[in-house]
Amino acid sequence: MSHDHIQPVPVDFVGAGEKSGQGCHGGAETLRQAAEAAGKSDVLDRYSEDYPVGPHDQPQSMCPAFGSLRVGLRMQRTATILSGSACCVYGLTFTSHFYGARRTVGYVPFDSETLVTGKLFEDIREAVFKLADPDRYDTIVVTNLCVPTASGVPLDLLPDQVNGVRIVGIDVPGFGIPTHAEAKDVLAGAMLAYARREVQQGPVSAPATRRDDKPTVTLLGELFPADPIGIGHLLEPLGLAAGPVVPTREWRELYTALDGAVVAAIHPFYQASVREFERAGRPVVGSAPVGCEGTEAWLTAIGEQCGISAKAVGAAKDRFLPIIKQTLASSPIKGRLTISGYEGSELLVARLAIESGADVKYVGTACPATPHSKDDAEWLASRGVKVQFRASLEQDLHALDEYQPDLAIGTTPLVQEAKSRAIPALYFTNLISARPLMGVAGAGSIAQVMNAAMANGKRFDTMKNFFDGVGEGDTSGIWQDTPVPRPEFKEQFARTLARQAAQRKSTATS
Ligand code: SF4
Repeated sequence: MSHDHIQPVPVDFVGAGEKSGQGCHGGAETLRQAAEAAGKSDVLDRYSEDYPVGPHDQPQSMCPAFGSLRVGLRMQRTATILSGSACCVYGLTFTSHFYGARRTVGYVPFDSETLVTGKLFEDIREAVFKLADPDRYDTIVVTNLCVPTASGVPLDLLPDQVNGVRIVGIDVPGFGIPTHAEAKDVLAGAMLAYARREVQQGPVSAPATRRDDKPTVTLLGELFPADPIGIGHLLEPLGLAAGPVVPTREWRELYTALDGAVVAAIHPFYQASVREFERAGRPVVGSAPVGCEGTEAWLTAIGEQCGISAKAVGAAKDRFLPIIKQTLASSPIKGRLTISGYEGSELLVARLAIESGADVKYVGTACPATPHSKDDAEWLASRGVKVQFRASLEQDLHALDEYQPDLAIGTTPLVQEAKSRAIPALYFTNLISARPLMGVAGAGSIAQVMNAAMANGKRFDTMKNFFDGVGEGDTSGIWQDTPVPRPEFKEQFARTLARQAAQRKSTATS
């Protein structure tokens, strides 16, 4: 096989991340240029369209490939192969096992020689053939990380299937995919595209998990397990059922997902997946059944798209909205909040909190604005909430200063900073995402944890007063003796450095 189009990558890029200024934290533009020169322009252009950046380039987030890796690792009968620098693969596999993957992650290593000569692609191909055992796997997912993408390793030249095992190759470079959330969409979209081709070619197997014969609503975005059940209850009076959640856990669920009467883009950033659904002729509805107003608007939209009579939609609303309203009223959230995260459900959580009575001032999400987040953003803006898409940590921290919340919900560094200022804080991913948000079960579910956190405010004040000044700046850490700050040493070094700089300047100008 010819590899004329494989672009040698400058040796500096091999082991991206090991060299300062390269990999995750720098050199993105150079890597992008290398990838474009290596024939990856189409892929990168598509990513730019699906995952627009700005106001800054890339929110502070983990390696994006973790998103797609996790989606693959959660799928039954799916093998995963990574192609990338050893340090990247080490970090990704460590994190996936930390999160309980309990699955082997395949790795095809490379060095500068196998990378530039095209041997790496041959090695990947060989690994795929070795692994393609139809008794064990339906699918093998091969992922190019930053360096192989920049080098143009052509995963699209892998065979579509080997021994009946599907081969799905994706590029997930940190310089093309802004967040790990969007990387989930890269793999989900690639799988939907593959499944759609299969459907077009002829009959496909029925999924083992199909629940009933009603028309279904496909749910887009990783949801708390109780949410699809709650959504199913809301849909029942409409004569509809909750369909599979995409990303799916089983290949054949992709067929049911594509066969849904409508797609609910609960997480609005799955733009590649949306494209596949639209190509399959499926309408897509944004927002979600959160709180009273959210549930009412969502049932109306689903009913309209599925041609359900106004009477049936009205009956569903009459049945559920009073219960939701009552539950929200009986578990109010009292306090001022800022909310930020990178899951894609931040706007929905803010809506629910507001309907529970919270005074939400700011919502920051690492995800971009999309047509499917528009209604939620407008709803929040009309209630005076500042909504920041592609929010950076700095913007989230600025919201702490500006709004002085009673509770800050956000990412780990934000929570750390809030706690150091004695502001109660909750980690969005572990404590908020891990609860039902939709329908009747969602109403009131976040109130308990938020109120409990705010009730801790006084304890934070006590601790802050007690520890005030201890372990800050030069004296932080664990010590045998009480550290003695030495500002005179710093002044002395500063003077010496300034003198040397002045000497260099005068030598240069003389
Ligand atoms: S693959 Fe991930 S960890 Fe490796 S350089 Fe790219 S963004 Fe960083």
